[in-house]
Amino acid sequence: MKTALVTGSSRGLGRSMAERLAADGWAVAVHYVASAAPAEEVAAAINAAGGRAATVQADVADADACAQLIKDVTGSLGAPSLLVNNAGITRDTLVLRMKEADWQAVLDTNLSAAFHLSKSALRGMLRAEFGRIINISSVVGLMGNVGQANYVAAKAGLIGLTKAMAQEYAGKGITVNAVAPGFIESDMTESLAEDLREQYLSRIPARRFGRASEVASLVAFLAGEEAAYINGQTIAVDGGMVMR
Ligand code: NAP
Repeated sequence: MKTALVTGSSRGLGRSMAERLAADGWAVAVHYVASAAPAEEVAAAINAAGGRAATVQADVADADACAQLIKDVTGSLGAPSLLVNNAGITRDTLVLRMKEADWQAVLDTNLSAAFHLSKSALRGMLRAEFGRIINISSVVGLMGNVGQANYVAAKAGLIGLTKAMAQEYAGKGITVNAVAPGFIESDMTESLAEDLREQYLSRIPARRFGRASEVASLVAFLAGEEAAYINGQTIAVDGGMVMR
């Protein structure tokens, strides 16, 4: 059984990815920073369904904690063959109002974490001559967005990091790809005012928000043997909002 680490899988998109990967036969490290009880719930549900999961805690904004996280996963479930860099935060405001701390926190959590975790996980992947790294970017990393300079820079940075790592480790059985979700159904989209909801929907050719399971399906495919020839790509799951 191969091991997958999905960062930020206590809730949201990451949770859906953890559940899908477990159903596909991966041993899954369910990772969180603060939500211990929800993470335990995700892992318990996977184990109850006959899968294999364990919870792991780390603040991925901290480089040393990233190295320790890979060690912890290796200790409990085995060296991860799949790393999904999903944990992310937003600290939205216009550039002129953006505090240094808001810039740094978003860059550390959404971008530098992917570098630190990949660096630690790659060693085991090289030994196994198999590995998959999937970076969860965003459509705003492709098209920009008002009030999200820190988040957009981090998500665009992830796309560059993906291409650089994909080239460095191609030929070693390792692929690195990025997934760029568009608007996905969440607590946030549920609570949108009707006019704002319509405004967002009018920009999406599919005329609906995406489902977390639709992002998880792509992650599951990219993680598998069948996706061995897909490398360095950024694939949007956005109902056709961004067409390149
Ligand atoms: P979410 O529901 O807010 O969950 C965030 C996850 O990241 C949680 O598991 C959280 O752990 C973890 N996390 C946050 N800060 C962390 C830190 N410093 N160290 C470790 N873990 C941390 O997020 P989401 O909406 O599912 O988004 C998941 C990813 O998809 C993000 O990278 C986001 O940018 C991207 N994305 C989402 C959408 C969307 O529509 N939702 C669209 C495009 C891209 P705790 O539970 O312990 O706090």
